[in-house]
Amino acid sequence: MSGKLDGKIALVTGGSRGIGAAIAKRLAAEGAKVAITYTNGKDAAASVVSDIEKAGGKAIAIQADVTDAEANKAGVEQAVKTFGRLDVFVNNAGTAIPKPFEETTLEELDRVIDINIRGMFIATHAALKNMNDGGRIIVIGSCVGERNMTPGLVPYAATKGAVKMFAQSLSREVGDRGITVNNIQPGPIDTDLNPASGDWAAPQTANTSLKRYGTATEIAALVAFVASPEAAYITGANLTIDGGTNA
Ligand code: NDP
Repeated sequence: MSGKLDGKIALVTGGSRGIGAAIAKRLAAEGAKVAITYTNGKDAAASVVSDIEKAGGKAIAIQADVTDAEANKAGVEQAVKTFGRLDVFVNNAGTAIPKPFEETTLEELDRVIDINIRGMFIATHAALKNMNDGGRIIVIGSCVGERNMTPGLVPYAATKGAVKMFAQSLSREVGDRGITVNNIQPGPIDTDLNPASGDWAAPQTANTSLKRYGTATEIAALVAFVASPEAAYITGANLTIDGGTNA
């Protein structure tokens, strides 16, 4: 197997399902050795590892909630111990609890902030301490972090706006080590979190120019490019991949 990430070591948070699983598989297909984290989905994570191994790649799954600092530190250390170092870190874990803001409980607000912002801080902090010069930090924001047309996503959109500024700001601190930091902003992507069927999907589809949901593999293709040596001069960028939603 040979690809644009040959010899690279990658860690993807929330890699057991959806966009994270597609990213893990694509990075592995490009030659990277990949560690994925998950919280509850042990079997799903094992199946991603098995798919990668069947295709000739190398992968491990680590249980580490992004909101748990000790678990993230241990997870990064396990990835580095297993594969030797860390070149690519993808903060993909995230969640949404769609409902009108006025009806959202304090617990729900805390959960969205905890995973999407605090978890991103914690997981990236742990990864950066172990990252090689010339590394890649990629965070998964959302097109709603820049412009939101969908009611029911107030806290989620606000957290993804924070993801955007996190990536832009961090890029200023690590550029002298050749490390790039970029924010990938998907539009509606068919996953467990946002299935392409049902009432909630219809307005999101209508808001795209292409009149369809995107696929996790389409997001993974952009992540693989940004992770590659060819993308060395892209940093602090917000790369929107949303079927024209924000056009
Ligand atoms: P899914 O809910 O389908 O998958 C989430 C993944 O993250 C699972 O592997 C899950 O593992 C893991 N995960 C959840 N919580 C945690 C946690 N606290 N710590 C570690 N891992 C966790 O989500 P998507 O694939 O749809 O979304 C992935 C990212 O893309 C998110 O950041 C989301 O906001 C963003 N995004 C998604 C869009 C969409 O339309 N789908 C659009 C724009 C952005 P487990 O099952 O073990 O909990």
